[in-house]
Amino acid sequence: MKKDSRYNVMLDQRIFLEKGEEFCSKCNGSGSLASRHKSYNGKSYKLTCPKCLGMGKLDWIEVIRGKKPVDPFIFWAAEAAKNLAKQIDDEIIKEITEEA
Ligand SMILES: [Zn+2]
Repeated sequence: MKKDSRYNVMLDQRIFLEKGEEFCSKCNGSGSLASRHKSYNGKSYKLTCPKCLGMGKLDWIEVIRGKKPVDPFIFWAAEAAKNLAKQIDDEIIKEITEEA
């Protein structure tokens, strides 16, 4: 079965859609928006997508209501750590059950 996936630069990993989820329409799953702005020291930086907060995908509730309006960076850091652990588990289980 072909899996739809995107490379998420904020999470530095490929992300897959779970049931009821869709890729962020703003960043197309990358979690980051191309920024033409430079920081004060002249280096370019990754701009976290304000729609998905860097996660690259939204579930159907979030598509309608948006991500929770908390500080995107704090939210992202906490969610990334939590989701990463869960995603790895889920993907391993999924691989095992699907490939069998
Ligand atoms: Zn996004």
